[in-house]
This record gives sequence, C-alpha cells and structure tokens, in this order.
Amino acid sequence: MQRRDILKGGLAIGTLALLPKGRAQGAPQNAPSLGRRYRNLIVFVYDGFSWEDYAIAQAYARRRQGRVLALEKLLAHYPNGLINTSSLTSYVTESSAAGNAFSCGVKTVNGGLAVHADGTPLKPFFAAAKEVGKAVGLVTTTTVTHATPASFVISNRDRNAEERIAEQYLEFGAEVYLGGGDRFFNPEKRKDRKDLYGAFAQAGYGVVRTLEDLARSNASKLLGVFSDSHVAYEVDRRFQGVKVPSLKEMVLAALPRLASYRQGFVLQVEAGRIDHANHLNDPAATLWDVLAADEALEALTAFVDKNPDTLLILVSDHATGTGALYGTGQSYLESSVGLDLLEGQKASFEHMLRTLGNNPDAGQVKEAFRAMKGVVLDDAEAQMVVEAIVKRVYRPDGVRYGIQPSNTLSWAMVQKDPRKPDRPNIGWNSGQHTASPVTLLLYGHGLRFLNLGLVENTHVFRLMGEALGIRYQNPVMSEEEALEILKSRPVGMQHPEDIWA
Ligand code: ZN
Ligand code: MG
Ligand code: ZN
Repeated sequence: MQRRDILKGGLAIGTLALLPKGRAQGAPQNAPSLGRRYRNLIVFVYDGFSWEDYAIAQAYARRRQGRVLALEKLLAHYPNGLINTSSLTSYVTESSAAGNAFSCGVKTVNGGLAVHADGTPLKPFFAAAKEVGKAVGLVTTTTVTHATPASFVISNRDRNAEERIAEQYLEFGAEVYLGGGDRFFNPEKRKDRKDLYGAFAQAGYGVVRTLEDLARSNASKLLGVFSDSHVAYEVDRRFQGVKVPSLKEMVLAALPRLASYRQGFVLQVEAGRIDHANHLNDPAATLWDVLAADEALEALTAFVDKNPDTLLILVSDHATGTGALYGTGQSYLESSVGLDLLEGQKASFEHMLRTLGNNPDAGQVKEAFRAMKGVVLDDAEAQMVVEAIVKRVYRPDGVRYGIQPSNTLSWAMVQKDPRKPDRPNIGWNSGQHTASPVTLLLYGHGLRFLNLGLVENTHVFRLMGEALGIRYQNPVMSEEEALEILKSRPVGMQHPEDIWA
C-alpha cells in the first residue's frame, strides 16, 4: 500500500489536500456529526433500494392500504439525506464495496469483504465494537453469509466464499445470526462435509431452522438459518404460503437477546432482497420486500422509543434496476392504475419459474401470469416467455443486459400502450446496479440537526464511530493504485451477469 500517491494527488490540488486523487477532486466535503453518544447501534440496510422503489411503496401504501409508510414518517421528521455510492474504482458499486464503505470507512474495489485489492485486510466496525464489549447481531433476508452482513464482521477477498464465511462467523462469535443459507452450514450440502450447525451448537448457540423453533428458543446466542439459499420473498411468504419468518419476526427475535447484554449491542438488519427483486425486474417482489422492511422498521423504531440510548441508522447501499412507475394516460391521469394492478400480483418470478419448471408450454405460461401476476399475455408474449425459459432466447429488442429469463418475463407483462393502462406501468432499464445517490436516515433521541445533506457512503462509518465513541482509521488506497493492482491480478467481478447483490 503506497500512501505517497494519495499525498501527491493531494498536494496537486492545494486546499483539498485530504481528498484522494482522482474522482474525488473538487468534491465538496460535508461531515455532519451527531453531537452525542449512544449505547446501542442499529444499522438497517435496504439493499438495492432506489427512490423509485420508495415512491411506488409510498404510493401503494397510501392508495391501496390507506396508510402512511413508517419510512415516510421518518423522512418527514428525522435527519436524512443522501449518500454517494461509488466504490473505489467504479461509479457503480456492488454490495460488498458498499458494505465496506459503511463498515470500514474507506472505498474499496468491488467484490471483496473488508479488504483492499492488494489483500490488505480492513477492520470492520462491528469487530471494533465487539472489542469494546458490544454484543453483535446480523439479521437478513439473504443468506446470512451474504456480502452486506459479512462486510460488517469479517474480512475475505471473495464475497462468494460463503462456506468459508460461515466458518469465519463461528470464529467471530456474534451473538445473533439470522437469515438464509443452509447450503453453507449443512454437512450434507457443504463441499467439505463439515457440520457447521454442530460446531455452532458446541460453541453455545441455539440453532434454529424454522419459525416455530425460533419462537420456542430461549437461547441467548442464536444461529437461525431458514432456507437453503436466500429467505423467500415477502410476496411468496405472504401469498404463496412459504413457511419462513418475516424480517420483522427475525428482528423481534434478535432485539431482546441483544438488549440483555450489559455493555450494549450493535445490530445490522438487512432488507437484502429488494436488490434481488430489482435485478429480476420483478415489481411485486420489490414492492412487498419494501413493505416488509417497513414493518421491521416499525419494530425497530418502537425499540428505540423504549431504549433512548439507541441510534438507528437507515441506509440504502445503491439503486438497482431501476424500476419506476411511469406516467400514463392523458395528463398522466392513469398512472395510479398501475398501483391498483399491482394488487393482482401474488407471487415472485422466482416462485413462478419454480412452478413452471424448465419446459413449460405457452398455455402454462399464460395461466401462471394470470394467476400469479394478474396479467393476460397474448400469444406472442407467452411464446417469448417460453423461449426465454426453454431456449434462453432473450427479449426481442435484443436487450441482454439483465438477469435472464426473469427480465424477459418482466418485459412480457409491462404496459406497452401508454394510453390504455391494463397492466402495471412499471418498467426497468436493466437488471444491474446504478450510480444513483440513495437514502440515509437517522432515528434516535437528541439528534441535533435535521439535515444530513449529501455525504459519501464512508461517512456512515464516522457516524457509527461517533455514536459509540469508537475511533480508528483503516488504510486508504488510491484509485490509481487499485487500478494498477487490478491490471495484473483481477479480483471480484468478471462479468456484469455475475453481479448478484
Ligand atoms: Zn447492494
Ligand atoms: Mg445485501
Ligand atoms: Zn445487487
């Protein structure tokens, strides 16, 4: 790691000497501070959550459910702002580099967990919190070993090394781990046949695999793994009878356990599949995972209200997609009909594809869309879906920049005639992340400012540090140095299609 590059770049730009060379030159600096300490810290990450997702959920809640989102109330009354999401070497981040920015306070290359491109490990914030005696919890709807939670506790050059990350979790010893990912713990599924469940049990954890077990357990340390891979989408849990705990149920299991530790706690909660649903261009899966996050948010704010020494930081790591409600009809009068039409969507594409199997015919596709998405496809659209599934032929305009076949499924049912809204007028430009700034919000007692403004994603690290009185600096790498290293030894993402978080 060469610091002289950073210094050289700094000297060249005079008064902005502390900024790293490259993209940050000339950027305004904004460093809002909390002005007080807290005992407990909760970081709620909405993965892949854009303002367009917010707009759809806010409008759906108001129009179809006659209520106001908890998030809308917080945005109206508590400090909030925006974060720039870029990673060290790309304006478009993925979740591990975004997680590193939050957790380590420095920008990194996409693809590794709490690590620089040359292998220099970084100390994640929850590891520092553990050293001063905080209990630690991770709760997510993805595999519990996925990039966002993992980046808060361990270091690994490969975010996809989830079997190893499961072992690192055991070594790290957080008090609560809740999410999916049986394949990384189960001896029958792991490549090395190690029994991680047995190892966790031996280390004093209650190990639970179902909602019933979760409700019954009185273990103070908990490993809960509720699905083979990611936890089912909320839309499938709610309407298709998939038996998994909701994000709120997991949060309510984690909070009293963590609160029982004398020195306080740090907890990361992740609504991790908003991102996945956006990758798949799936409107109902996106909407319902945002609504499920809102229920979890209500539970978290209720805890903060009763425990005023707790700070809640809510943050999205980047936008994905981005799916938006588009104007339709004369004077856009029909735009809101798209929200009404969302009500007929009772399953995710993930569930639909599982039901259809690998070789469906056009009739089965039509029936699946009618029953699960409330949309009547014409023959050509149904055939396009069949071919996307069977032959992996993609949508007719040649767009392949997405996650297939789901993007084709989404394209098939999108509103095509802007004057005649008979389908949800919600569409995506791609199945990838974007460079958009995203939400940052604080909830807690005694916050002295009402506007966070626009900050870098790394500022989350400084807010967490100030909240708990934990200060340290991880090593900084310059963009130029990282690009030099990547030239000789590429790490992380190789193809856009690989980006899954
Ligand atoms: Zn993400
Ligand atoms: Mg994530
Ligand atoms: Zn993603």
